[in-house]
Amino acid sequence: MKAMTPNSRSGPDQLVDQIVEMKRLLGQFAQLIEISLSLNSTLEQDLILQSIIETASQIIDCEAVSILLYDENLNLLKYVATTDIQSSEISMIPVPLQDSVAGTIFTLNAPQIINNPTSDPGHFELVSRHLNIENKSLVGVPMRIRDKVIGVLEGINKRDGDFSNEDVDILLVIANQAAVAINNAQMMESLQSTYEELSRLDKIKSDFISIASHELRTPLFHILGYAEMLEQEAEGESAENLQRVLKSARLLQSLVEDMTNMNMLEARSQELQKEKLVLQDILADAYQEIAYTAQDKNIDTELTLPSGPVKILGDAEKLKYVFLNIYQNAVKYTPEGGRIHTSISIRQDMVHIQVQDSGIGIPPKELDIIFDRFRQIEEHLIRSSGGLGLGLSIAREVVELHNGKIWAESQGQDHGSTFHITLPLAEIPPFTS
Ligand code: ADP
Repeated sequence: MKAMTPNSRSGPDQLVDQIVEMKRLLGQFAQLIEISLSLNSTLEQDLILQSIIETASQIIDCEAVSILLYDENLNLLKYVATTDIQSSEISMIPVPLQDSVAGTIFTLNAPQIINNPTSDPGHFELVSRHLNIENKSLVGVPMRIRDKVIGVLEGINKRDGDFSNEDVDILLVIANQAAVAINNAQMMESLQSTYEELSRLDKIKSDFISIASHELRTPLFHILGYAEMLEQEAEGESAENLQRVLKSARLLQSLVEDMTNMNMLEARSQELQKEKLVLQDILADAYQEIAYTAQDKNIDTELTLPSGPVKILGDAEKLKYVFLNIYQNAVKYTPEGGRIHTSISIRQDMVHIQVQDSGIGIPPKELDIIFDRFRQIEEHLIRSSGGLGLGLSIAREVVELHNGKIWAESQGQDHGSTFHITLPLAEIPPFTS
């Protein structure tokens, strides 16, 4: 801002002049602080633009203020806000970088004061016509973020006299703050639209899974039914072939189960059917389904259970799914001759279940992310174990819906894994585990 200049007046008159000038400068500072606060208080671009042009035209005392932003794709400047003019109307006028004052300010990254714009070679007539005001004087400054120019802030027609360097200084302060605020608003807008796009894609994915799992379920049911029936009567090579068909069909069935369950949870279409349950019964039900495969792989299974029933409040079917998934994984990732140990302990009002296996283990950095959807340690295309990487994500949602927690522990590759689940007790048992 300009320094106070001495004038010909002296004594008390000079003092009065100085006080008046100080008051004026203080007023400008107050307005600059105000605009800084208001720019920092919103991320909505329209509000930011409005606030800039209103304050700027008040401080530099001119008829109109415009903001032009650079459009990288079209390589020109575009009006985004102008005092008293419908922004839709003015935004239709693109301003070229050559042959326009704004373009020169932008390209040279330097402010300009033109006190007779119509006679300036850079005068861009189209704008004056649209603004419908005689363009008597103009001041413009580049809007910068660090060294990058993103647009131009212009003031038109100083009400009293000509534009001065002081107006340039004020506009530069406003323009630099405005550039940061506009950039933040644009980043927020782009984040929002990315988020909306992701939500849309997530919905398409959910719909696809829902349709696919529904369409696969019925034919698979028939294939399994007939193949099981035929297998009982088949002998020799055809029995072997049927076993192969059954194995593949069961693998497909477990994938369809995964997909169905995930969608069911995602859509929250079914509330939990909570009832009082005995935890040991749920574990036994789940274990029964993998018992045959465990025996087949010669895996030693051991259970350390409390002496009396452990009662919890929960959804039997969904909790069974959780333990079934943990057991299926334990069997899947434990080599022949390994061991799976289940234990239950009571801790205050929670029950703590641990399923420990002696299998291939989980690398430390994967311990959390295996609970994310579609997350598998081995690349899907080269993996040999089947599954989509959905089971644990569903298990976590179910456990959390029951106000419990689930996590994994492992000493690393080939040192086995332990899955922990805690669930609230329905009643504190009279025994200790
Ligand atoms: P998947 O259908 O692939 O088994 P899950 O969500 O059940 O999907 O498991 C995610 C990933 O966690 C598995 O692909 C596997 O890499 C790892 N994992 C789960 N349980 C075990 C385990 N007991 N031992 C070793 N790795 C496991």
